[in-house]
Amino acid sequence: MTSFRSTACRISHRGKAFGALAAVVALTGTATAAAAPAAHPGHRGHQPANVILLIGDGMGDSEITAARNYQVGADGRLNLDRLDSTGAYTTYSVRKGTNTPDYVTDSAASGTGWATGTKTYNGAISVDTHGRRKATVLELAQRAGYRTGDVTTAEVQDATPAVLGAHVSDRDCKGPQETSRLCPSDARENGGAGSIAEQLVQTRPDVLLGGGRKYFEQQVTAGRYAGQTVLDQARSRGYFVATTAAQLRTAPRDKPVLGSFAPGNLDLEWVGPAPTHQNTPAARCSVNTHRDASQPHLSTMADVAIDRLDRLSRSGKGAKHGKGFFLQIEGASIDKQDHAANPCGQIGENVEFDRAVGVALAYQEKHRNTLVIVTGDHGHTSQIVPAGSTTAGVTATLTTADNAPMTISYATASEPGGSQEHTGTQIRVAASGPESYRVEGVTNQTDLFTTMTKALSISRD
Ligand code: MG
Ligand code: ZN
Repeated sequence: MTSFRSTACRISHRGKAFGALAAVVALTGTATAAAAPAAHPGHRGHQPANVILLIGDGMGDSEITAARNYQVGADGRLNLDRLDSTGAYTTYSVRKGTNTPDYVTDSAASGTGWATGTKTYNGAISVDTHGRRKATVLELAQRAGYRTGDVTTAEVQDATPAVLGAHVSDRDCKGPQETSRLCPSDARENGGAGSIAEQLVQTRPDVLLGGGRKYFEQQVTAGRYAGQTVLDQARSRGYFVATTAAQLRTAPRDKPVLGSFAPGNLDLEWVGPAPTHQNTPAARCSVNTHRDASQPHLSTMADVAIDRLDRLSRSGKGAKHGKGFFLQIEGASIDKQDHAANPCGQIGENVEFDRAVGVALAYQEKHRNTLVIVTGDHGHTSQIVPAGSTTAGVTATLTTADNAPMTISYATASEPGGSQEHTGTQIRVAASGPESYRVEGVTNQTDLFTTMTKALSISRD
């Protein structure tokens, strides 16, 4: 089905038939007339409106292609290849205090772009180039009565999950200790809103899942919760705290859940050969047997999050009844393993991310008023180069699902053995569901804020 462009009604409970009808309406030029009597999404008697945003951190075209070749072959298709509308978006950030482009963004500035619709400087967490707080799509959705969720394989205080529910001048201000040192004006003892960990708990999405327990275990420095840990503060705010996949599965249905499954980032799905300057003999990746089995996989967290948000939005009282939800799901370590020049680590995370995309698309098949978006936040270093070749950087060769050799090069580290770098290329943005046509063509990362707020009928005011 091609995406339907009519904004007459975003409620497609009649699925494909409705989509086809809306397309005809748009073509005959009566869309405006048809729009007048339509109810707002979330109106009593209509299906809830939902947005599920799936972010592969550092997932540019090279990363998608490498994962596809390896997992399903060059002619195969991943779940993330199956969305209705596809476009490209630009990801640049700006230099602090100016609007001058910085062509290579980091995850903080790019995340702030879609979370708030505002370009900012690298390192900024939902503050603009002058340091002013900007309301986020999650905060606006919550204010309008939607249920909200924030899921990642990284620390939940890491930039991509942080931009939804925290506002600090520096992405490294993850816990109270770091904030006192690096972001003194944000610190609680100086009258600020506190660290990313404290602000996320204060914002209190209904579902908050990932790693980063070491920041939650730090003590709050001032105010009502002084001397307690951030995790104590979370419990006071009503959170049920889960530290294993089993606890996540059995968490009380009526409480917000904070899943904190590792001190830092969650463990990797796959392991494999380390690239060298001489390339490596062709090899396959293998499952990481050292992975902590108590940690949930990303697709499991996606499944639990969607199920909980769906139930909560249906059981809500008053303004929250039947509103629907906003959920972000991040595959964070595609980026982290790109930095580490670890092809199997990177591809294993991308394949698990793709399973999470499959979970979201399966939900959308039954709940047609759900906008599913799959994109990344910036380009990255990995390149597919001629099989067996060496480059100025390091290379490794993997045997793919086609039983063919695929050589991947990492050649952007500024020093030998150093961390590989992000790149400034435009990247893919794909969507299915209401308003999905908005991602087509070439757009800007900040336009995604508009796409999502339109789908939820919420505004900045
Ligand atoms: Mg990230
Ligand atoms: Zn990165």
